[in-house]
Amino acid sequence: MPPTVAIIGGGIAGLTVAHELASRGVEVELFEASGHLGGKAHSFPAAEYLGHSTPFHGEHGFRFLPAFYRHLPDTMSRIPTMDSRTVADHLIETQQTLLAHRGKPNRAVTVGRPRTLDDWMDALDAPLADDLPLRERRHLLERLLYILTSCERRRQYELDAISWPSFLDIDRRSRTFRERIEHMTQALVALRADRASAKTMGTIYLQLLFGQIDPTRPTERILDGPTSPTFVDPWRSHLENLGVDIHTGSPVTDIAFDAPRGRIDHVRAETGSVEADQYVLAVPLEVARYLLPEEIRGHDPTLRGIDRLETAWMAGLQCFLEEDITLTTGHAILADAPWKLTAISQRQFWHTTPPADDPIQGVLSVIISDWQTPGIDIDRPASACSLDEIEAEVLTQLTLHLDAEGFDQDRVVDVVIDPAISPTADGDGVENRTPLFVNTVGSYLDRPRAETRVDNLTLAGDYVRTSTDLASMESANEAGRRAATAILGRLDVPGRPVDIWQLDEPTVFAPWRRFDRWRFKRGLPHAADTISRMIPI
Ligand SMILES: Cc1cc2nc3c(=O)[nH]c(=O)nc-3n(C[C@H](O)[C@H](O)[C@H](O)COP(=O)(O)OP(=O)(O)OC[C@H]3O[C@@H](n4cnc5c(N)ncnc54)[C@H](O)[C@@H]3O)c2cc1C
Repeated sequence: MPPTVAIIGGGIAGLTVAHELASRGVEVELFEASGHLGGKAHSFPAAEYLGHSTPFHGEHGFRFLPAFYRHLPDTMSRIPTMDSRTVADHLIETQQTLLAHRGKPNRAVTVGRPRTLDDWMDALDAPLADDLPLRERRHLLERLLYILTSCERRRQYELDAISWPSFLDIDRRSRTFRERIEHMTQALVALRADRASAKTMGTIYLQLLFGQIDPTRPTERILDGPTSPTFVDPWRSHLENLGVDIHTGSPVTDIAFDAPRGRIDHVRAETGSVEADQYVLAVPLEVARYLLPEEIRGHDPTLRGIDRLETAWMAGLQCFLEEDITLTTGHAILADAPWKLTAISQRQFWHTTPPADDPIQGVLSVIISDWQTPGIDIDRPASACSLDEIEAEVLTQLTLHLDAEGFDQDRVVDVVIDPAISPTADGDGVENRTPLFVNTVGSYLDRPRAETRVDNLTLAGDYVRTSTDLASMESANEAGRRAATAILGRLDVPGRPVDIWQLDEPTVFAPWRRFDRWRFKRGLPHAADTISRMIPI
């Protein structure tokens, strides 16, 4: 009998485990609670939520893949599509990011591969911004060099324990400096600059910077269609062709742990009791907390850290437009929007062409990343607003930033807010069924590893410890690969190991990192700290 594996959760992490295992001949059964696969990365036909028929889709939140992603594009390159290509062939490069301001001219930053000298100057200058005083540019460069020359252990133990703002000594910097730092990462919706560690933010900031100036990699890519039909649906077909048995609408409600044997005995799903050689828990953080019984946490105390991990809200909203606007050839960051909005005009990338007389001709996909700060017209945070108030306030914030780009709220035919956001029972705001794990200060060591001490349980999900230290499709994919690696080892399945990559960093700094490793092992501070103590500035 081939070994069997039961995967609980059909988001990016669960699908990745299924892919890696099934392509090596392991028998896989996957249980997904909702009626669709893809988890937070799914999209849905907008007509389901509108009073109109439209070929456009709604996204849970629009997606992009920065240059440093390796795991997810690799998986995409192994999923065939109906047009005899692969999902990876449906990735296209964006050209620009629009930095939109309220009351100041907007600025389009080139994000594509720099080709001309001007492009190069733009790419190098954009992250540090031409309006920063030299003293502050030097400060930022010095801080980035500190991270680049720190060894991995120092990053995990020291830099993860300091917040990014205090590492940058942000209170003593100018307002422009603070804004630049926030805008660089605002586009990475999953990250809040004020709550993340110096390790997470510094590493991701550097990765984005490398992506921007490395001519060999596309800086940023997006799919040429909505996420579900372009990526998730072909993935499902491919997995089914590999023999994966997929049950949607089938939540797992209970994990039965056999404490004396230190093993999971079975799990309970809609279809009944499920027994397998190995189990993968690939559900979101808040569900993992609830499903993992106390006895399992007692057996593997490293799992107790998940109670200290935090989630935040990020959710999408689509504005359906009677006339399409391009906005920019990439996404837009609304720099002064209190709800930290980012947006993308989809039609140009999706090549969706509605009939000329269709009342909906374009879709602006927006993400709200701050649900705690009061709005402009409405003096309450998004979480304390009704759905109608959220819609009205988002339209105000969009107008104040994007009117120069042709956005006109009178031409918005309809708005659809992510169905995961719904009114609370007592009517004092909204609740979010799909919060997102956020990498807060000190969270790295609290994150569980994919391989647990229960020898037939592994974990996969964006909160699991990975080298991609950022809650994203990339980290969910990497975590899925780590879970698959552990299972293949436990089941002694022969064959090619699962590919897992570390984040690329310039080799020119490797000798400094080795030197720092030597210092860290001896309990010595980073050389820069020793020098700054000797020469106080
Ligand atoms: C608005 C928004 C925009 C984003 N944009 C980007 C982006 O541009 N790029 C990027 O890389 N990342 C982005 N992300 C992050 C990314 O979407 C997530 O980090 C990633 O998809 C998480 O995948 P996952 O498999 O770990 O978890 P999930 O997607 O949460 O999947 C878990 C699955 O488990 C299922 N489940 C739950 N309970 C049970 C149960 N009891 N039994 C069975 N199944 C269960 C759920 O229904 C779900 O399908 C964004 C996130 C949001 C919210």
